[in-house]
Amino acid sequence: MDFDEFREFGHASIEFIINYLSNIRDRDVLPSVVPHEVINQLPRQIPEQPEHWRHILNDLEHIILPGLTHWQSPYFNAFFPSSTSAGSIIGELLIAGIGVLGFSWICSPACTELEVVVMDWLAKFLKLPAHFLHETEGPGGGVIQGSASEAVLVAVLAAREQAVRRERERQPELSESDIRGKLIAYSSDQSNSCIEKAGVLAAMPIKLLPASEDLVLRGAALKAAIERDVAAGLIPVICVATLGTTGTCAYDDIESLASVCEEHNVWLHVDAAYAGGAFALDECADLRRGLDRVDSLNFNLHKFMLVNFDCAAMWLRDANKVVDSFNVDRIYLKHKYEGCTQIPDFRHWQIPLGRRFRALKVWITFRTLGAEGLRAHVRKHIDLAAQFENLVKADSRFELVAPRALGLVCFRAKGDNEITSQLLHRLMERKKIYMVKAEHGGRQFLRFAVCGMDPKPADIQFAWTEIETQLTQLNLEADQQPLENRKAGEIAELTQHLTGLQLQMDETLQR
Ligand code: PLP
Repeated sequence: MDFDEFREFGHASIEFIINYLSNIRDRDVLPSVVPHEVINQLPRQIPEQPEHWRHILNDLEHIILPGLTHWQSPYFNAFFPSSTSAGSIIGELLIAGIGVLGFSWICSPACTELEVVVMDWLAKFLKLPAHFLHETEGPGGGVIQGSASEAVLVAVLAAREQAVRRERERQPELSESDIRGKLIAYSSDQSNSCIEKAGVLAAMPIKLLPASEDLVLRGAALKAAIERDVAAGLIPVICVATLGTTGTCAYDDIESLASVCEEHNVWLHVDAAYAGGAFALDECADLRRGLDRVDSLNFNLHKFMLVNFDCAAMWLRDANKVVDSFNVDRIYLKHKYEGCTQIPDFRHWQIPLGRRFRALKVWITFRTLGAEGLRAHVRKHIDLAAQFENLVKADSRFELVAPRALGLVCFRAKGDNEITSQLLHRLMERKKIYMVKAEHGGRQFLRFAVCGMDPKPADIQFAWTEIETQLTQLNLEADQQPLENRKAGEIAELTQHLTGLQLQMDETLQR
């Protein structure tokens, strides 16, 4: 493809994106395809000859788009938002266009240095403790990982290696494998699946401690578990707390967990994948309580900062602990500025070697929206969730299951779980809005998360109308059910009666 054709393809693709995003409300949020429908429409091999981009965009429109769930639709109310914005989309395009990798400073100095700058911008915007900033003297700093899962895994692995080293010194009579066999980690039963998975990948069990009635993990529960395990000869390594759980956006009590972790020399990591965006707001200052005492934390810019997937911020109080744990060198990776303070080689802070220039899309997003725009975005989600919450509260057929938290409302139809299940089933069949179910204490509920690229009050009203009319319909059908059954019974009785009469008539005629 020459540059003239590339230009045409590029312009047409931008038009395609604008058309897709500006008309997204016209599409059902969930696709109508069945398994293999997309596969069956595609050739089984790479085309032998190059194809014109027009054919490719045409197939994108007619084969691929109908098979997509539209995450940028305001009627996508499942999981948590996966945000994007014009600046971020252009940023992603430029990243691909420039095509650099930045695993060490020398590979692309601006790639590393821009990341240092935007991570410090973000830390200040979120009002994080100063020791997490690169510009503060000391071993702290931030890095962009691909996902919260990777950030949690990095923290778990680093904590594990630190614990092994510490224990080898403390108990030289034990072999390394004996020590590794005794390691244990903690989180809450409300934490995201990626935390348990990090334990599996790190070959270190993570105990999921039961959160209290209000879905919060507190120091007392952690303390009891650690004391039990220490008495049994185990070695506590890390506690992964959550600010903004996936189920209900509950906030673990970081202060009390930090006290226990400090007492037992346990690494404290905070997963704030979603709720971290609210650290920026003065009215949410309470959420930041205790963060000055944690070893590491993560926050997904691709959830709440209008940066498209993948982009997960992670901060470390002492990055040396991660670098020491993962440092594997080769002569071809060496360069003369290695080890310079403030010039990190980010390959030591992450799992892969290669790394994308994600800082570019963050930089462009932050500059095109400004801090004011980012704060307004988080506040908009909170306001829209409050609008939805009020609609739930005003309808006596529904109940809230947990306090509304940021852009998430957890609610259910009153009565047994079956009603809520059937309601969700109907909504999914109709494909107008998309929510997912969760469960706590035997009660199933629906999670309504404000999502989409540009949700508006009218979208919330649309979703609510869809939900409440489908419940009305469900109740009507349930009321009709016994009536129909009754009618069927009456018809059967009548038929039996008529058959009897017929028999009597036949007998009379025969006589
Ligand atoms: N942590 C929390 C609280 C989440 O809600 C999620 C996903 O929604 C994750 C972690 C996993 O995020 P990622 O897909 O970036 O790994």
